[in-house]
Amino acid sequence: MFLTVKRKWIIILLCLVVLFVGGGVFFKVQSTTAKPNLQKTIVIDAGHGGKDGGAVGKQTGITESALNLEYSLYLKELFEQFGFKVVLTRTDMGGLYSPLASNKKKSEMEKRRKIIENANPCLVISVHMNSFSTGEGRGAQVFYGEEDSSGEVLAQKVQTSLNRDIEYAKKTAKIGDYFILNTAKSPAILIECGFLSNPQEELLLQEEKYMHKFCYCVLCGVLSYFDFS
Ligand SMILES: [Zn+2]
Repeated sequence: MFLTVKRKWIIILLCLVVLFVGGGVFFKVQSTTAKPNLQKTIVIDAGHGGKDGGAVGKQTGITESALNLEYSLYLKELFEQFGFKVVLTRTDMGGLYSPLASNKKKSEMEKRRKIIENANPCLVISVHMNSFSTGEGRGAQVFYGEEDSSGEVLAQKVQTSLNRDIEYAKKTAKIGDYFILNTAKSPAILIECGFLSNPQEELLLQEEKYMHKFCYCVLCGVLSYFDFS
């Protein structure tokens, strides 16, 4: 009788140990999987700014820096709607260089590099407008860094998406020797959205409807890179 009671208590104790340890593991698994952090951070980098206006449209006088900012702000809106966290390198028309810097270009690029590094993004999109000595060149083209194999995949996905809906964009993504592409530690692309030196494209790039369509194509390209679509 005494042994039976003792055995019963041993069994009860063992059950409690199993419940306690098993329960602990169970709750630990629950607590680590209940709130997964799936939010992806991306950096959108509006090229130029301040005294550096970049390319200029001859008919309207529009600067590349103004259009880069407009496209970047709309891209931010779109990506946020899809749950991304977006960090912009530039949020207004001011330059990113220090006012006291003797070499403003170097100071500006260093600031961009630091913003990207602090954001620790899963990818970087730099936005620019192209220009050519004659008015003939036109069309959007995506560039990636030479050593960046993920950037190459991302660039091809975005280029393919642009080629589907943007007239004259029918190109392939190319290696580009740009500071942002060479210094970013995450996959990075630079999009030359179109040519301000081309009279038709200068006007087209400023149309809100066109800008919306263009940015949506960029979003679709990025989503297909992440295999969301
Ligand atoms: Zn530019």
